[in-house]
Amino acid sequence: MADKIRVTIWNEFRHEKTDANAKALYPLGIHGTIKEFLGKYDDEIEVTLAALDDSDQGLPDEVLYNTDVLMWWGHMAHGEVNDELVAKIRNRVYDDGMGFIAMHSAHFSKPFRSIVGTSGKLLWGDEQQELIWNVLPAHPIAAGIPEHFDLGTEEMYGEPFMIPQPDELVFVGWFKHGYVFRSGCTFFRGRGKVFYFQPGHETEGAFHNPYVQRILYNAIKWAKPNEFGDKMHDCDYRANLL
Ligand code: ZN
Repeated sequence: MADKIRVTIWNEFRHEKTDANAKALYPLGIHGTIKEFLGKYDDEIEVTLAALDDSDQGLPDEVLYNTDVLMWWGHMAHGEVNDELVAKIRNRVYDDGMGFIAMHSAHFSKPFRSIVGTSGKLLWGDEQQELIWNVLPAHPIAAGIPEHFDLGTEEMYGEPFMIPQPDELVFVGWFKHGYVFRSGCTFFRGRGKVFYFQPGHETEGAFHNPYVQRILYNAIKWAKPNEFGDKMHDCDYRANLL
């Protein structure tokens, strides 16, 4: 692994071209905005941007296989993502330990559902005030985050959220109209680490919130692949047991 964490931020990048509100909030695109705030960590993190309409849907092999942590934002075009690419992403997590960070509506993305193995359905509702509660303050992803913070207005995502029981629950979202949501969850899959984080609707300002920015930075550091012994790499596990 290179010294810097090689992060690829994949964005569907459609709303920011067609929706005036999304464009005004994220003129660089959501991926460009994330890259911008990660810039202050450029001694630790190297960022590549990828979008659905790029060639090879933004993830040709030379990008995917040189990515330590893949961040994913998608919403209106989940179905357009190539199934062969989804399988490659899943296998890169399972077999190579690539980190995967699914943001907001990526709960319904093909890669997230394929990696965690459930539908990702949830209760959905109107935008309203949300507080994010830090329920696992000892977790590396919670570093620097207070007991709770006010996200302002965000699209409501509620329970039940059709995910497997998370390996760790780091954040819980509380919505003004009474709903709650498992807003920050981790999953260990094969050799890889997965973080799902709920804030980030395209017409709300979550990616400008300093705590959201810190959480995503923490998540990148947490999700980077472990160093694995060469001996295990690419072996046939079953054969080794015989
Ligand atoms: Zn949304």
